Amino acid sequence: MGFDTNEDLARARSWIQAADAIAVLTGAGISAESGVPTFRDADGLWRNFRFEDLATPEAFERDPKLVWDWYNFRRERIATAQPNRGHKALVALETRKSEFTLITQNVDGLHELAGSKNILKLHGDIWLVRCTKCAAEWVDRRPSLPEIPPHCLCGGLARPGVVWFGEPLPKRVIDEATQAVKSSQLLIAVGTSAIVYPAAGLIPIAKAQGRTVIEINPDETPCSDMADCSLHGPAGEILPLLVT
Ligand code: NAD
Repeated sequence: MGFDTNEDLARARSWIQAADAIAVLTGAGISAESGVPTFRDADGLWRNFRFEDLATPEAFERDPKLVWDWYNFRRERIATAQPNRGHKALVALETRKSEFTLITQNVDGLHELAGSKNILKLHGDIWLVRCTKCAAEWVDRRPSLPEIPPHCLCGGLARPGVVWFGEPLPKRVIDEATQAVKSSQLLIAVGTSAIVYPAAGLIPIAKAQGRTVIEINPDETPCSDMADCSLHGPAGEILPLLVT
């Protein structure tokens, strides 16, 4: 691991122990050790498409079947994934704190599956399907939808219940996340490249409020410069060390 293991870990542990109110921001990296690929790491390409060209409203308008094909591929990978030691450490941390908010950019549902309770999903949920005509929303947990693109009972075309690039986040969710960051003493940013806004903007908000920020990521990110402590290693190894 690329950090001064003992000293940095000990500092981060003591901050976590002392804080009554903690907010955690997770990104795709926390699920990497569960076998769910991140967007920006090695297999960021699917059939030669970049994810930026698929996870957009324009892509869906142009070719809904292609976008659903990609979501079926992702659903199949996520369906067999299990929460890892990082997800589980966050469950343990939640049980020990009077205020704990888990803000996630992930759509894979692994935090719930692990047992986390107070979760704000900034970017929706891959198992949700939403009608583009009447806005009805329903859960469909089949790994791969047999008929794509699916349709609603009203006849409208249905889309994945996620937030795409260029779309606004649900106001209630981002407002609650901002409030949780402001009212927490500590923000832990785990497995996020910290470049997708407005999620990444929660980190400078924490700093502007004088909160302590801990980062967990094998790589340097824009968060590393802001964090009071950057622990450069995998979440599944570091989080259990911080929480036990
Ligand atoms: P990202 O793909 O941009 O970045 C992932 C980050 O995780 C990188 O900084 C990488 O260094 C780090 N990482 C890799 N392995 C790690 C590990 N073992 N432990 C800790 N960190 C590790 O992801 P992002 O910042 O979440 O933003 C991209 C967007 O992609 C988000 O909107 C998210 O909704 C979406 N996404 C979600 C999933 C999912 O639900 N699992 C998967 C891919 C992308």
